[in-house]
Amino acid sequence: MEPLRLRCSVQNYDWGKIGDESHVARLFSMNSKSEIEAEKPYAEFWMGTHESGPSFVLQGDESRTLKSWILENPDSLGERVLEGWGGDLPFLFKVLSVAKALSIQAHPDKELAQFLHKSHPTIYKDSNHKPEMTVALTKFEALCGFVSLEELKGVLGSVPEIVELVNNVDVDHVLNIKEQDGGEKVKTYLQSMFTQLMSASKDNVSEMLFKMKSRLSVDNKVRLLTGKEQLVLRLEKQYPGDVGVISAFFLNYVKLNPGEAMYLEANEPHAYIYGECIECMATSDNVVRAGLTPKYRDVQTLCSMLTYKQGFPEILPGIPLNPYTTRYKPPFDEFEVDCCCLPKGASMVFSAIPGPSIFIIISGEGSILTGSMEEEKITEGDVFFVPAKTEISLTASSRDDNSSATAGALQLYRAGVNSKYFE
Ligand code: ZN
Repeated sequence: MEPLRLRCSVQNYDWGKIGDESHVARLFSMNSKSEIEAEKPYAEFWMGTHESGPSFVLQGDESRTLKSWILENPDSLGERVLEGWGGDLPFLFKVLSVAKALSIQAHPDKELAQFLHKSHPTIYKDSNHKPEMTVALTKFEALCGFVSLEELKGVLGSVPEIVELVNNVDVDHVLNIKEQDGGEKVKTYLQSMFTQLMSASKDNVSEMLFKMKSRLSVDNKVRLLTGKEQLVLRLEKQYPGDVGVISAFFLNYVKLNPGEAMYLEANEPHAYIYGECIECMATSDNVVRAGLTPKYRDVQTLCSMLTYKQGFPEILPGIPLNPYTTRYKPPFDEFEVDCCCLPKGASMVFSAIPGPSIFIIISGEGSILTGSMEEEKITEGDVFFVPAKTEISLTASSRDDNSSATAGALQLYRAGVNSKYFE
């Protein structure tokens, strides 16, 4: 089979970077040959079969979705993927441009996803779980998972506004837990405090945030505020009066460098804060939100679904596959991501594999070649669906007359089913 060019969808959520500032806007405009609207936020570029942002096949009838093409050409998935996930692509591939924080959220596991979809089908639109992975394109900031016991004790000792809002018995218990007794014991109190905080009344939250701001502005004159305190003040400007602002004290502040990745298991709280990234996930859009959002909040579901596991998340540096390619392999069957940077004039063959892939050209230009296809030019914003068992060869342009910083180099990302699934 031959690779298919795709025309992909964009999401203009209000937290996206605006106009030309947004890498998503540039990719979308190159991909769809459309103008960028200067004032509009461009948040997410979606590549895959999810019905909320379908990709279209640029071949013959251009209104044909990748999903319907795959249904008619199930061999393109390969036997093992067909067996495992039926006639659909198991992963959804995205680029994100984040200007302001996304909601504090978690994604349900399969069982909870099915339950939520059954009981509230208009809010929880599909019944699939949604493990996800983020690979930073720029410096990328996020909140992810609960802080360690030690850091939590520090928070209770230094943020009196939180202590005022939650039950003092819980606070005393946490302060008296010893590191070696931590684990399960602290989870109960952490869940209780986090739930009290997230369910606090609007008035109480506003009052608490007002007190905290006043205290920090006094402190700011005599000491340097901590990274977390500075972050909380930043979030408060973006979402005044939102309880999500203060909940940041409970979560790890993660800063990824370009090329670093992190992944999120089901039921782990997180919020992306700033930067641009590649994201891959199981095909699903199931999000339970509880703060930093104008959208629907489901505080009770969120607080009861979380695992309350504590500690800093694992940062993946990626595994070098060859001089040009780095692979990010999360502990999920549905997906893995490769980053490939070809210097000027270099070529690389992506061998045939048992499952399907999606490729996106992030920057630069070059050409693509397969056994049966004529060599075609490729450039920023081009997206290809590469069927199972299809070998492709990519070459970076050797032209020197381009003035952009990436002249001649070709940077692309590939998403595919996790190779460990085929072992
Ligand atoms: Zn998420």
